[in-house]
Amino acid sequence: MNPRPAPTFPDWPQFDDTERAALERALAQGQWWRMGGGEVNAFEEEFAEYHGARHALAVTNGTHALELALQTMGVGPGDEVIVPAITFISSSQAVQRLGAVSVPVDVDPGTYCIDVAAAAAAITPRTKVIMPVHMAGLMADMDGLEKLAADAGVALLQDAAHAHGARWRGRRVGELGSVAAFSFQNGKLMTAGEGGAVLFPDDERYESAFLRHSCGRPRTDRHYRHQVAGTNMRLNEFSAAVLRAQLARLDGQITVREERWPVLSALLAEIPGVEPQADDARADRNPHYMAMFRLPGWSEERRNTLVDRLVAAGLPAFAAFRAVYRTDAFWEINAPDETVDEVAARCPNAEAISADCVWLHHRTLLGSVPALTDAAAIVAELVRAG
Ligand SMILES: *Cc1c(COP(=O)(O)O)cnc(C)c1O
Repeated sequence: MNPRPAPTFPDWPQFDDTERAALERALAQGQWWRMGGGEVNAFEEEFAEYHGARHALAVTNGTHALELALQTMGVGPGDEVIVPAITFISSSQAVQRLGAVSVPVDVDPGTYCIDVAAAAAAITPRTKVIMPVHMAGLMADMDGLEKLAADAGVALLQDAAHAHGARWRGRRVGELGSVAAFSFQNGKLMTAGEGGAVLFPDDERYESAFLRHSCGRPRTDRHYRHQVAGTNMRLNEFSAAVLRAQLARLDGQITVREERWPVLSALLAEIPGVEPQADDARADRNPHYMAMFRLPGWSEERRNTLVDRLVAAGLPAFAAFRAVYRTDAFWEINAPDETVDEVAARCPNAEAISADCVWLHHRTLLGSVPALTDAAAIVAELVRAG
């Protein structure tokens, strides 16, 4: 149906001899876990420094990073955590796995990040944490959230799974004073297939996290003196070695994507009925994890058909996240004492975005301007036809 040749974009993940050498280096250590080797330690130092954080702790994946962060913030049964309704399910599942109630709130219709007024309205005496998600790399309104958190006496936990290298008014993720959790899953902006990290602004929560991510065992213990409840979330040496190489190429990739997004966004904005994700000038460095746009008024079926056609035309296109409360998983454990209709009624933007939002993989934004121009032309053609 589409005679236009498919534009080509770089592959993801990207790797070269740097990753190969890193893997050889980890292998040659003869110790492949963090307690014996040096790669995890070195990666943590480099990742913390890159984000201006006091400490980084590498873990098995981004979901565990959120769980561990919440645990060190004291979240457990009887507590509530406010999450944006539009996010990957882990933001909510991490809360629920700890026995706390996940309270989804509406997002901004333009940025798709948590709506500060909606978060404020959801605060109760049981609220312990507000968890903004920096959607597609665009920072949530950290000014509004920091004020709200301070006024309400609750903590912030940044779900920065999309936001490696992001900045808010010049401040890096680790300089914002709150704990932040990252993912290194295969599609993320730097990856070892799986992996995660938590940034800490203080020693106390970092030390607590270190113990808990290693079965409650102090670093130098040789006599099984497990001090606190924990589990094993340790990252292995191979993954850390690859992540050091991935971190070294992140800035160059961000520079390209920051140049390309305004080009693609302007082309998309010209298409009748298409609204690209809004920018926020205060989020002055955006690593662009996804190129997102909405088709306001479209039904979920119509959007899904469009995504199928975009994929058939050669674009790496996806339907955006379903609102977390529109999944069976959400209602299985530790959901709020509300019906799905009640939650939906207070999340009108999340309802619409669940149905009408599309995203293109960030490797699109590593492509050439002619390739992006072709991609936008394909979107225009198929939107008009659909
Ligand atoms: C990917 C992702 C996670 C979870 O990370 P994993 O490494 O896949 O466990 C959490 N939150 C958001 C917003 C994500 O996109």
